[in-house]
Amino acid sequence: MALFKCYECGTQISDKAASCPACGAPVVAQNRSQETAGQNAQTDYNQVAAQQQQAVSQQIKEAQKAARRTTVFSMISGFVLSTLSHILPSLIRGGRRFR
Ligand SMILES: [Zn+2]
Repeated sequence: MALFKCYECGTQISDKAASCPACGAPVVAQNRSQETAGQNAQTDYNQVAAQQQQAVSQQIKEAQKAARRTTVFSMISGFVLSTLSHILPSLIRGGRRFR
């Protein structure tokens, strides 16, 4: 029994499984194309798959970072805006009262 990585999600799957248990991607077609492609093509495929997984995980990390940045920024700008909208009118009113 051999284990290989799912081309969709990277989960280790048995070559006897019909589909990936994690994402449901079909395994049979993937296995057959690997067997007929030969050793070099298989190595290329594995390299491409690894690169794709790295690229995808990098994209996910970047997206998470960007989402965090956006959330923090919107929280800060929302806080500043609401604070200003509460403080500014009272400041203006207060300033007028002192005159
Ligand atoms: Zn999968």
